[in-house]
Amino acid sequence: MVSQARGQARHWHGTGAAPVAARARGVLSSGRMKRVFLETYGCQMNVADSELMAGVLEGAGLTLTDRPEDADAILLNTCAIREHAEQRVLGRLGDFARLKARRPGLVIGIAGCMAQHLRRRLLEEARVVDLVVGPDGYRSLPDLLMRAAAEPVAHVRLDRDETYGDLEPRRGRGTRAWITVQRGCDKFCTYCVVPYTRGRERSLPLADLLRQVRTAAGAGFREIVFLGQTVNSYHDGAHDFADLLRATEDVEGVLRIRYTSPHPSDMSERLIAAMAECPKICPHVHLPLQSASNAVLERMNRTYTIERYHAVVERFRAAIPEIALSTDVIVGFTGETEADFEATCDYMKAVRFDSAFLFKYSARPDTKAFRWTETVSEDEKGRRLTRLIDLQQAISAERNDAWVGREVEVLVEGSGRRQADQLFGKSPQFKNVVFPDDGTPVGTLARVRVAGATSQTLIGAGARATAPIETPLLQISG
Ligand code: SAM
Ligand code: SF4
Repeated sequence: MVSQARGQARHWHGTGAAPVAARARGVLSSGRMKRVFLETYGCQMNVADSELMAGVLEGAGLTLTDRPEDADAILLNTCAIREHAEQRVLGRLGDFARLKARRPGLVIGIAGCMAQHLRRRLLEEARVVDLVVGPDGYRSLPDLLMRAAAEPVAHVRLDRDETYGDLEPRRGRGTRAWITVQRGCDKFCTYCVVPYTRGRERSLPLADLLRQVRTAAGAGFREIVFLGQTVNSYHDGAHDFADLLRATEDVEGVLRIRYTSPHPSDMSERLIAAMAECPKICPHVHLPLQSASNAVLERMNRTYTIERYHAVVERFRAAIPEIALSTDVIVGFTGETEADFEATCDYMKAVRFDSAFLFKYSARPDTKAFRWTETVSEDEKGRRLTRLIDLQQAISAERNDAWVGREVEVLVEGSGRRQADQLFGKSPQFKNVVFPDDGTPVGTLARVRVAGATSQTLIGAGARATAPIETPLLQISG
């Protein structure tokens, strides 16, 4: 069926829709499209987008299944930030191609940044794909899925006004609610594909966000995490990010507030003051550095110098003495010399971040830097990455050691992953904490004395050391 459709002229979203829509209604009315399997790749913004998609799908009467074998449609919500992220999805498509060979009516859709990035190539080259839908097409997802059951469909139009502010996401279980406050990005770092895949920056109205916060708190979520590519440039025309944080502080049921990722150039005194004054706003900032060499920062178009970046670090440490700092660094960017890389190592040693996400530069089509001839070999990128990982691990271990003997407040998230007699949660500084299960209910706060530490985890008195736990807030694949 689908392979026949592939032999014909493609139907694209918005052109000649009538006959296809009629067939799509047929699929819906015949009840053939019922269950959707949704798989998410990439950053927390994608996790939040998947919750949004789940809300849209359920609102249209579809149900979500966690078994692809049971699904009438499979949707992959993808990431394009590094080549490796795209390769993972293409590999996964192979699994679903086998499923589709057994069940030809199965609809397979690619959503998100990779969909926007590769667009029609996915329909034309990845023969198994029926639907390609970019980050601004989720509102019409049920309709697109129905139409894709009849013939391949692409919706890759970016929409400067789409914020999904009026939609209610279907959140997963847990203590933490992700709330996207802003979509897109206007910064155009020369290595980054996000402005091309997610379009121009736009903020949701504060009233819509507070409604989402209240709904989440009412449903039992105790920690609110605000998301945006440059989250601290949030502005809805009347309110800035500090206003949003202060208003959230007043919402009943919310115990903790976090946000990620701010841009160093958009950091304001108002935001630092809000963090210093509001007890629910956690003392942790993820402040992407990328490089400590001014020459590299300039080529990256990061819009700050290392001196300005460091002034922000010092300002935070002065205003909030217990603040934890984490960061992102890219090694092997085009033009990065050994001396540039050493400058980054020296800065990491001097500033002593609590943790860091470290990446090898991956040249991305569409970006400005893609047109520049790469100067650092893959082997050399690997060497620089290993060196930085070793350095940061030692620093993280030392910084965690400094908590031994102190008491931390933990928002309990559940049982330890490896040992069921332990509880797991985060400290305000976003450190993983495991401690003996004393019956503290999930979603409440416990005070835990730290008896030991690894580079990734604080170990509460009486608890046994477990294998390192991955930090879900900032996990970035690829
Ligand atoms: N908007 C955030 C900022 O500017 O800091 C970060 C968003 S991006 C999804 C997350 C991280 O991926 C970036 O901070 C950067 O370190 C990394 N990244 C982005 N593009 C990359 C590329 N082409 N190669 C390697 N890492 C990349
Ligand atoms: Fe990408 Fe730079 Fe925007 Fe972050 S600020 S999303 S790195 S362009």
